[in-house]
This record gives sequence, C-alpha cells and structure tokens, in this order.
Amino acid sequence: MESFFNRFRNTVARFMYGRYGIDQLGWATLVAEVVLTFVAGFVRLRAVYMVLRLLSTALTVLLLYRMFSRDMVKRRAENAWFLRWWTPLRTGFRDARYRRADKAHKYVKCACGTWCRVPRNVGKVELMCPKCGAKKIVKTG
Ligand SMILES: [Zn+2]
Repeated sequence: MESFFNRFRNTVARFMYGRYGIDQLGWATLVAEVVLTFVAGFVRLRAVYMVLRLLSTALTVLLLYRMFSRDMVKRRAENAWFLRWWTPLRTGFRDARYRRADKAHKYVKCACGTWCRVPRNVGKVELMCPKCGAKKIVKTG
C-alpha cells in the first residue's frame, strides 16, 4: 500500500511539475464555486438554477486551467490583479469588525475617508481629523 501511495504521489508531483498550482485567486475561485453551488441548491427557479450552475462550472474550469497552466508569468499577473482589489477589501472588513467590537469608542468617518475615533458618552466634542485637519462637532452619547 505504501508503495502505491508513493507512486501516486510521485505521479501527481511529476504531473504538477512546471505547472502553476493554486494561489490566492485560485482559492477565491474555489470558494466562489462552492458558494454558488450551495446557493443553487436553494433556488427554485429553474432558469436561475441553470445560470448559477453554469457559472460555478465556468469557475471550476477556470480554476483547473490556471492550476495546470505552465504560463507562470500570466498566472502571477492575474493573481496580482486580484490582490490589488482584494487586499484593501479584506483590510476594510477586518477594520469594520474591529470598530463594531470596540464599545468604548465611537467611530466617525471624515469627508476625506479617514476613520476618526472618539470616546463614547462624553457629550458633544469637536473632532479634528488627524489626516486632513477638518473639524466636526460630534455627539458621543
Ligand atoms: Zn479627514
């Protein structure tokens, strides 16, 4: 048995040699595919179901194509493109979760997009944005 698994592993390794494999975009594709398949299971409308299944199949094909691809340069460029919008999005989610969990402060978004933190329950305070210097009266109650 041991030799069978070794042979199998070697075959897979040989097949994957020089091929791209999986990256962050690949994992995202996989997750999206699983979510689409899951959602499709709850859809009653046949047309919508077909569209969801078609999309998830397309994602599977895309995932396999990228994994077995030998064009490292192109695949890395695609992954870099994906990370350019995914990384700020993930940071945004993480920060939003942190702000929700922080009950001691109120978070106010400035016109420049910076999040400013003020303590809660200290009445009305004048807030100055640390980034652009804009002032704003904030009720902290
Ligand atoms: Zn500002």
